[in-house]
Amino acid sequence: MGFLDFHHHQLSKTGIYNLNLNEEIPAGKFSAGLHPKDITENWKSDFEKIKTVSLSEKCLAIGECGLDGIINIDENLQNDIFKAHIHWAEEIHKPIIIHCVRRFSQILHYKTAKVSLVIHGFNKKENVAQELLDAGFHLSFGRATLENLSLQKIIKNLPIQRLFLETDDADFKINKLYEKVAEIKSITLENLRDQMWENLDNIVRNG
Ligand SMILES: [Zn+2]
Repeated sequence: MGFLDFHHHQLSKTGIYNLNLNEEIPAGKFSAGLHPKDITENWKSDFEKIKTVSLSEKCLAIGECGLDGIINIDENLQNDIFKAHIHWAEEIHKPIIIHCVRRFSQILHYKTAKVSLVIHGFNKKENVAQELLDAGFHLSFGRATLENLSLQKIIKNLPIQRLFLETDDADFKINKLYEKVAEIKSITLENLRDQMWENLDNIVRNG
């Protein structure tokens, strides 16, 4: 089995492909959600389409969806739509892949969701990571981890069951990230690979 790429945007990669709006269901595993930047006045019909495709067995998670503090989309609307995703995920028992920019304190309010919550592309400080971990979230790390010593320290200390690794939209090989993280966690590459698939099984089962 290859290395799980928890969140990516290229059909050729192994893991969870982030489906684009109006895109056909792909051959492999995917996630479906309305990214805050894609919110328009047609969001209700877009969300209906997401609901339909997410019923597919190949859809492992809802998202990416979430809250973004730097885009020019009404924040109340972003919250309403994120809530709609959570309710839907709870209804169909699937985990959620969360996009969060500068809205971590608001995201923490959703810790009561009855499905697994994964913050993708985590790239914040240790205290934010700790708050999220204490609240039960999972954290997925991407390319920044290769260079960022603070992220490496967070990974060293976090329970491996809460960890995921991803390329997102960056152009690099996920193997590089696995090698780095295996070194940080002082485990073999094989163990890390197996653990990431097991983590995915766990959140899909909990969802
Ligand atoms: Zn992404």
